[in-house]
Amino acid sequence: AAAGPAREALELKDIFIAVKTTRKYHKSRLDLLLQTWISQARGQTFIFTDWEDQELRLKAGDHMINTNCSAVHTRQALCCKMSVEYDKFLESGQKWFCHVDDDNYVNPRTLLHLLSAFSHSQDVYVGRPSLDHPIEAADHVQSDGSKTTVKFWFATGGAGFCISRGLALKMSPWASLGNFISTAERVRLPDDCTIGYIIEGLLEVKLLHSPLFHSHLENLQRLQGESVLQQVTLSYGDPENKHNVVSVGGVFGLQQDPTRFKSVHCLLYPDTVWCPAKKMS
Ligand code: UDP
Ligand code: MN
Repeated sequence: AAAGPAREALELKDIFIAVKTTRKYHKSRLDLLLQTWISQARGQTFIFTDWEDQELRLKAGDHMINTNCSAVHTRQALCCKMSVEYDKFLESGQKWFCHVDDDNYVNPRTLLHLLSAFSHSQDVYVGRPSLDHPIEAADHVQSDGSKTTVKFWFATGGAGFCISRGLALKMSPWASLGNFISTAERVRLPDDCTIGYIIEGLLEVKLLHSPLFHSHLENLQRLQGESVLQQVTLSYGDPENKHNVVSVGGVFGLQQDPTRFKSVHCLLYPDTVWCPAKKMS
């Protein structure tokens, strides 16, 4: 007989995936995601933007969330979006919060597999560290005017990261209902660093460093062949850095698929209507 009740298998519907975007990227970046991985995770993906775009609304329905945050690349605006993502996740009741940027490909199967190793009631913060060392931030000013500092690791937002519900609930005093913005202002850190500050610095929970999350800060060409399909997230370089893309061959050429996301998607989901038909052998 089993030793105890088996843990219920985690399902995709238990994961809340927040995609951060902005009005100028709805066409150039988001459409590609909607065509590819979001089509395999419609029910659990929410798009956080800063503009009421009728075309996107038609495609995404109530899964497009207009944060009313300003459409500029400032700490305040980006933290405003993260704060809305966090609040929406808490409201959703789902077991896992995952954040990604609009230049990330998410592999729903490997994401599910990764998170299945944990319980959502444990304290879990998993992602790829931005730097090879922890960062140090001035925490609070003492009564004598001296500053205390905290050292902590954080997961780079551009590679995506996930947080269990158990941990997310503990973050609430510093993260919910606008508190996230004040926390970020206090330590003067970007949104992803502030998440790390709250979790590692304040709650003393360690980031689980995972090599399965990828941003365009790394050399993506090093990801080749089968291993590309085993990652949890992928990304691609900016226009100035066009060739920083993963290496997948045999589906679409670089002209047709400069980001490589369509090729990856067809390898993962070959039955997709717009993927080339499988050759008979
Ligand atoms: N972004 C945003 N507001 C802006 C600029 C960017 O919300 O004014 C989002 C963008 O959609 C993406 C993330 O922030 O999800 C990172 O932007 P980007 O990839 O352009 O910059 P980088 O990765 O170089 O930080
Ligand atoms: Mn980016």
